[in-house]
Amino acid sequence: MPSKQRKIAMMGYRSVGKSSLIIQFVEGQFVDSYDPTIENTFTKFIRLNSTEYEVKLVDTAGQDEYSIFPLQYSMDFHGYVLVYSITSSKSFQIVQIIYDKLLDMIGKIHVPIVLVGNKTDLHLERKISTEEGKRLAEKWKAAFVETSAKRNESVTDMFHAILSEIERSDGHIQEK
Ligand code: GDP
Ligand code: MG
Repeated sequence: MPSKQRKIAMMGYRSVGKSSLIIQFVEGQFVDSYDPTIENTFTKFIRLNSTEYEVKLVDTAGQDEYSIFPLQYSMDFHGYVLVYSITSSKSFQIVQIIYDKLLDMIGKIHVPIVLVGNKTDLHLERKISTEEGKRLAEKWKAAFVETSAKRNESVTDMFHAILSEIERSDGHIQEK
């Protein structure tokens, strides 16, 4: 059987660890400094629940409150990973702005999304509690995972979560 193609966008404020999460997942290493302006697409083949996937991960350069999304972001993707850093309240605000814009643009009721709180290894600098993250994800009816790209904690879980969300929404995609 041919593998299922899945295209996923990584979005979020700058410096939250979008690139680090992808590189940890695809290459199994933590890079300490990765050019923040690079917009790369990474491909990984994985097997999950006896299905073979070709996962394309699109690493965006990051968004802020003023970002206007290119229209292609609304069509091309099966799912979205929205990343904030647990050490940054600003990045938590930005993820909510991104969500609102995304829903406006896509015009669907249900979009497969995983909300990710990254940098859990920096627990002394934590600004956003696990509960706050969970509550936001519940409001969105999205999955929620806290990760550390640095320590490779829950990174695989997070990418599995977005594939499951996409699988769940397959077949009953509702239009507004
Ligand atoms: P991006 O701009 O969202 O792509 O963020 P990067 O992946 O470039 O990471 C921004 C900075 O945060 C870099 O210095 C990374 O090394 C660091 N970083 C990323 N993930 C983690 C993490 O889980 N823990 C810690 N301590 N640092 C991280
Ligand atoms: Mg980056």
